[in-house]
Amino acid sequence: MDLHLNGKVFIVTGGAKGIGAAISEVLCAEGAAVVIAGRNAADNAHQLSTLKEKGYTAWAVEAELTRVDDCKKVVDFTWQTCQRIDGLVNNAGVNDGVGLENGDPERFMQSLQKNLLHYYVMAHLALPALKQSRGAIVNIGSKVSLTGQGHTSGYAAAKGAINALTREWAVELLPYDIRVNTVIPAEVWTPLYASWIQTFPDPETKLASITRHIPLGKRMTKPEEIADMVAFLLSDRSSHTTGQIMVVDGGYTHLDRAIDVS
Ligand code: NAP
Repeated sequence: MDLHLNGKVFIVTGGAKGIGAAISEVLCAEGAAVVIAGRNAADNAHQLSTLKEKGYTAWAVEAELTRVDDCKKVVDFTWQTCQRIDGLVNNAGVNDGVGLENGDPERFMQSLQKNLLHYYVMAHLALPALKQSRGAIVNIGSKVSLTGQGHTSGYAAAKGAINALTREWAVELLPYDIRVNTVIPAEVWTPLYASWIQTFPDPETKLASITRHIPLGKRMTKPEEIADMVAFLLSDRSSHTTGQIMVVDGGYTHLDRAIDVS
């Protein structure tokens, strides 16, 4: 299937690592140009050289997305360099474990800043360009917004708000033909996941206890499987899909817990 992404320009926040890196790679492989927004210069440079070695068109902007000025830097750079923005992928975030009992109001607010506010800021700033291109927004959410996880109020609140904003923005942007969707991962092996699993006393046992409950294949989702859904949702092959929350998780969140296909 040709996704018609050739020559299009996409911003991917957190595009240097994990799911974001897979998204930037898949979009480039489909012929698009990508601007990666990430705070770690070395990670940005590494991902950029990986993409360039394959002959892809990509740039990286060093940005700490909790700062509005840095978000503006990303959007301005993209506009000045490419004179168009066809889509925004809001992906950067961290499950920072700010709970009700173990957290405090200050850290809760910081968690919203890390996981929610820049989604709004980036969409707000990219909107004039997206109106011109009739572009698309894809947010990366989390299963936590649907199921809870415990001890992570800030992250859960942010991801729940992202689901709500997906519907809200889909409605507000109808007059501009801008589609807005969210992709929800559950258990995807990334640097973030690898460090999260290490917080358990016996990481290997914990990991096995999770993967054996993932119905399709008893395995983690691959970052590329999230990226493929994102590419489809950014493309005009999903031209009548908006306001949707797509769960790409091998059935982990919704299928009957009693099934046993072993
Ligand atoms: P990851 O491996 O940590 O990659 C995220 C990238 O975004 C990193 O390069 C990170 O930089 C960057 N980043 C994070 N916050 C940033 C900020 N404020 N400013 C600039 N860059 C920032 O994470 P991932 O697992 O790919 O997760 C990507 C998205 O998927 C997140 O929204 C996450 O909540 C969601 N998600 C992931 C899973 C999973 O199983 N992996 C499950 C559910 C939802 P640093 O390395 O400096 O932090």
